[in-house]
Amino acid sequence: MPLTLPNLPSLIHETRNAIAIFDETDRLHYANPAFRAALHLAEEDYPTWVELMRRGWQTSTGTHITSCNGDFEKWLSSALSRRGKLPFRGFETSLHDGRWIWVTETVDAHGWMLYIGVEITSLATEGRELRSDRDVALRASQTDELTGIANRRYMMQRLDNMVSNRIQGCVAILDIDHFKSINDAYGHAGGDAVLVDFARKVGHSVRRGDDFGRIGGEEFLFLLPDIEVDNAGQLLDRIRHTLLDACPILQAPEFRYTVSIGITAIQAGDSTQSLLSRADKACYEAKRQGRNRSVCM
Ligand code: GH3
Ligand code: MG
Ligand code: MG
Repeated sequence: MPLTLPNLPSLIHETRNAIAIFDETDRLHYANPAFRAALHLAEEDYPTWVELMRRGWQTSTGTHITSCNGDFEKWLSSALSRRGKLPFRGFETSLHDGRWIWVTETVDAHGWMLYIGVEITSLATEGRELRSDRDVALRASQTDELTGIANRRYMMQRLDNMVSNRIQGCVAILDIDHFKSINDAYGHAGGDAVLVDFARKVGHSVRRGDDFGRIGGEEFLFLLPDIEVDNAGQLLDRIRHTLLDACPILQAPEFRYTVSIGITAIQAGDSTQSLLSRADKACYEAKRQGRNRSVCM
């Protein structure tokens, strides 16, 4: 006989633990009163996680964001490159009101996330600074300094993980077109602004289970588990089109940039090396065909 728990909804509503559920696009679908109180969220308000964090940053409420030296967008890129990528993770965080919370995030196979936050302000305060410093250092070792997204080391770990667990899907290399001439025309700072713009635009478009990071100067890796190559191509082409109206260099509002993309599906017997070299070849072919396009191989 199935177990029935008639009080569960009311218990979840009443608990002082903050409980929330986000869908695969990271929009809030459920939040109990404790969650709404902690994040200063009105009843019947269902923002995306990004909107929630941005509002908190603007009004100095909710989650206390201390890393990235006051650069919220950089913090966001970095947080997004880790958020929801693992089936389960737990971490300590502090709120603007001074409380400390132990947060767990559980992600199901459909990309829905259960958030549970438990107040730990009075528990084990000793060592908290140290643990927090350790987390910051660990994140830094996985993060690209310029753009805030995942770096080469982290992306290679994720690629290894895909290959060794025989996860199906696609791998793509994205290489910005004529980047050298962007540097030549607008200086190194102009080139950097393009890299940051690109990382943000693409970083905001990745699906929950995808990984995206910078693996070289103007070269990026995109990992897409559980997707057919045609769909991966469509998804990446949509992202590519969003770049067409980006104007990252303030002094040159008419300036536009493009990207070439090489996509390949994971095949039986693939190693990380064979995958990367096929994606690289496809990217090279996209360049050869005239750039600003994707090629599947
Ligand atoms: P293609 O369309 O064939 O990809 O041409 P490209 O000019 O983009 O390619 P190439 O590999 O010749 O040039 C890459 C340039 O990227 C060369 C290097 O100076 C520059 N670069 C590498 N890292 C950085 C960085 O962090 N910031 C800036 N501004 N430039 C960088
Ligand atoms: Mg290149
Ligand atoms: Mg290039």
